[in-house]
Amino acid sequence: MTHDIKDVAIYLRKSRDETNGLTNVLEKHENELTTFAAARNWKTTIYKEIASAESIDSRPEMVRMLKDVRAFLYDAVLVMEYDRLSRGSQYEAGLISDAFKSTETLIVTPTRVYDLANNEADEMLSEFESVIARNEYRQIKKRMARGKVHGAKLGKWTQGIPPLPYVYDSKTKNIYVDEEKRPLYQRIKRLFLEEKMSCLEITLLLNREGVKSPTGKTWVQATVYRLLLSEIHCGKIVYGKRKHDAGGKLRNVPREDWIITQGTHEIVKTEEEHAQIVKTLNERRLLPHAAKRGAFVLSGLVKCAKCGRFHQMTTNGKGTIYVRKCSKANPDGTRCNNTGIKEDIVFRMIENAFIDFEIQLMNSQNEIDTSVEESIKAEWDAKLLQLQKINKRIDRLKEAYLDGAFDRHEFRESKAKEDEKIEILQVEISELEREADFLTKETNEERLARLRKWKNQFKPHDEDKAKMNKILKQIIRELLYNKDGDDISLQVKWT
Ligand SMILES: [Zn+2]
Repeated sequence: MTHDIKDVAIYLRKSRDETNGLTNVLEKHENELTTFAAARNWKTTIYKEIASAESIDSRPEMVRMLKDVRAFLYDAVLVMEYDRLSRGSQYEAGLISDAFKSTETLIVTPTRVYDLANNEADEMLSEFESVIARNEYRQIKKRMARGKVHGAKLGKWTQGIPPLPYVYDSKTKNIYVDEEKRPLYQRIKRLFLEEKMSCLEITLLLNREGVKSPTGKTWVQATVYRLLLSEIHCGKIVYGKRKHDAGGKLRNVPREDWIITQGTHEIVKTEEEHAQIVKTLNERRLLPHAAKRGAFVLSGLVKCAKCGRFHQMTTNGKGTIYVRKCSKANPDGTRCNNTGIKEDIVFRMIENAFIDFEIQLMNSQNEIDTSVEESIKAEWDAKLLQLQKINKRIDRLKEAYLDGAFDRHEFRESKAKEDEKIEILQVEISELEREADFLTKETNEERLARLRKWKNQFKPHDEDKAKMNKILKQIIRELLYNKDGDDISLQVKWT
C-alpha cells in the first residue's frame, strides 16, 4: 500500500443477510479488522453498529463516524466490504460519498483501497454514481457545498398546498390523491394529450362548465399550463425554485439549481406522458410559423419598419441572397420603398444584436415582475413578518424558561402552540410562492441558455435553408428593418 495511513476508523455493521444465523459475526469482523490494522501499525477507533438498520438516521455509529470523517480525524475508514458503507438510500450514498471525497479520506477493505477523492474511475465511485442519478448527485453536492442540506425534508412534502389532485396530510407530512379530484386531473391531461386541446381551450371549457379552479375561482390559462407541466405528478418533489437574496427579495432560481428528488406519493402522470406534454407545449410556443416553409433563411422574419409588411427574399442568380425592397402600394398609389439589403449584412446585425442581448440579460437581475405579483408579494411579506415575530416570541420563551420563569412542561406547551402557528404560516407562505410561480415567466438565465442553445445550431450558410429558417424562428420573433440611404437599422425581437 502506497497510501500514508496512520489514523483509522473501523466501521462494523452486519449486512442484511447476516442478521440471523451467525450471532458473533460482528465480533469475528472486529478481530479480523483490528488484526489487519495492528499489522500495519495503524491507530484505530471502532464504530460498531449494534443493530442493522435501513437508514443513516437510525445508524447512530455511522452518523458519528461521518461527522468525525468530516472533521478530518482519519486517514482511512476500514470496513469488511465497501457495501457496509453504501447501503441505504441514494441520498445517503451521496452524503457518504461526499464526506470521503471532500476530506480525501480513504476507504480500506482487507482486499483493496478506495480513493474517492482522487480516483474518479474507482469502482466504488462508479457504484455510487450508478445508484444516484447523476443529476441528483450533482444537485445534492452543490447544495451541500452551501451547507444547506435539510436532509429530513428530502422526499417529504414541504411545499404547502399541493397541486390538483393531491391533498396534504400534516400527520404523515405527505401528499395523497384526493379521489374526488382525481377524475378532473385525469380529464385535463386527457383533453390535452388525446383531444389535442390547447391550454386556453381547456381553460374555457372548464369555465363554461362551471368547474372551479383549485383555489375556488375561475380557471386561468396559466393554471392549466402549470398543472400540466408539474413534475410533482410524476412523483417528483422539487425544492428551491425560489430563494431570498441578501436584500430579502424573492428571486427565481435557475432550473439547474433546483433540487429534484423522488417523493413517496402516488404517481398520476407517467414520464412518457410528461415528455409528450413538454414536447407539445414547446412546439406550440417555439414554432408559431411551423406551417410556413422557409425557402430562405430569413423568410417570414424581416418586417418593414415603415409599413409593417414582411419583406420577400430574392437571389441574384449568382448565389447572393437579398432581402427584397418593400414594394407595398399605399392607398394613394405611392410605394413604401424601404430598400433591400444583402442577407449577409442582416446576419451580421443579428450577431451583434445577440451579443448586446446577452450582455443585457446577464446584467439584469431576476427580480420578479412586481406589477403582476404585487398583491401576492404584499401578502407574502406580511406572512414573513408574522413568522419573524413568532420566532422572536419563541426566543423570548426560551430565555424565560432558562431564567426559571417557566417550568419545562409550561415551556413545551407554549412552544408547541407557536410551532403550530409556524407550520400553518409556512404552508400559507409556500402556497403564495406557488401561486406566484404560476405567473412567473422563464428567468433570464433560462432564457439566455435557451437562446444560446438555438443560436449555436444556427449556421447562416447551411445548405438546409428551411431548417435554418426554422431554427431562427425559434429564437427570433421578427426583425424590424428600416433603411434610409446608408442608415440601416435592425431591431431584433427575441422570443
Ligand atoms: Zn414597407
